[in-house]
Amino acid sequence: MAAFGTVFMPEMSISWFDGEGWSTAERVASDSIQLHPGAHVLHYSSTCFEGLKAFRHQDGSIKIFRMDRNIARFAQSSELLSLPAIDPAQTEAMILDIVKHFAADVPEPPGSMYIRPTHFGTEPAIGKAAAPSLTSCQYILLSPVGDYFSGGDTTLRLLLDDTGMRCAPHMGMIKSGGNYASALNPILKAKKELQADQVLFCPGGDVQETGAANFLLIDGDEVITKALDESFLHGVTRDSILTIAKDLGMKVSERQLTVDELLERAAKPGCEAALSGTAAVLTPVGTLIHKGQEYKVGNGGVGETTVKLRQALNAIQWGQAEDKHGWLTSI
Ligand SMILES: *Cc1c(COP(=O)(O)O)cnc(C)c1O
Repeated sequence: MAAFGTVFMPEMSISWFDGEGWSTAERVASDSIQLHPGAHVLHYSSTCFEGLKAFRHQDGSIKIFRMDRNIARFAQSSELLSLPAIDPAQTEAMILDIVKHFAADVPEPPGSMYIRPTHFGTEPAIGKAAAPSLTSCQYILLSPVGDYFSGGDTTLRLLLDDTGMRCAPHMGMIKSGGNYASALNPILKAKKELQADQVLFCPGGDVQETGAANFLLIDGDEVITKALDESFLHGVTRDSILTIAKDLGMKVSERQLTVDELLERAAKPGCEAALSGTAAVLTPVGTLIHKGQEYKVGNGGVGETTVKLRQALNAIQWGQAEDKHGWLTSI
């Protein structure tokens, strides 16, 4: 199977901001865009993106999961990067149009159509290191994806990094390109030297998140995860899992979690940990690595509560359980 995110639908929806307004969105070929080599994004990383999914239901209908949340975050990322403001209604219409156009290509569960809105500064002005791009472009790219979680019984190994940071603290809640490049060096080092799958960034001992997913500790009937602040990405999956956990009668604690508490709790039998994100849904964590020592989370295997929460989320997405929070949009 092709790697996640390497297959694209042949067309995308695109709109350009000329300094005054957004052009009428058009469907164009998705294999290239033309940019001036001096475009602001290529020099000063004025770019943000989103990731959401459309699902095929048994009755043949196509539903997009929590589109409003993703568009709101896209608008917020654009604003915090001083990009031109997007028009949320236009972005929504672009998403609906392109997903409708390729509705026949939305895979059956456990697959889905991954939707990638992207916005970046296009102004040819390399003198603008400390000034915003007055022009920009947004497009909606589609990528049919399979089951990211085909791992079966495998669990992730995470290196706890309590000295480094994923990105600058004021950039954490912005889904912006530069943040991912900034986290690569420590991630590649951890993969090479410790066979870790990911780095769990814990600046100053405060358990935060990995390069592209939020972290949840599940201890009995309690889910513990960092409370929202501007230093990390406010995952829609994180919010959905916490809502489902509450619906199932679990206790949800959004608060600071220190590395010391994490290691102490993780060792207890029955403790579980997981990463949440649109691509990974909820992926179990089996091993934590800290200061040269390895710690199993619970028994190191796939936790049953992790599986239960994941299945409950999938059931809503796939139309097998009631959408009582109104998370699905019909195309
Ligand atoms: C996208 C992302 C997440 C997960 O967000 P979802 O909305 O759940 O997909 C978490 N952390 C980072 C850094 C991300 O980029």
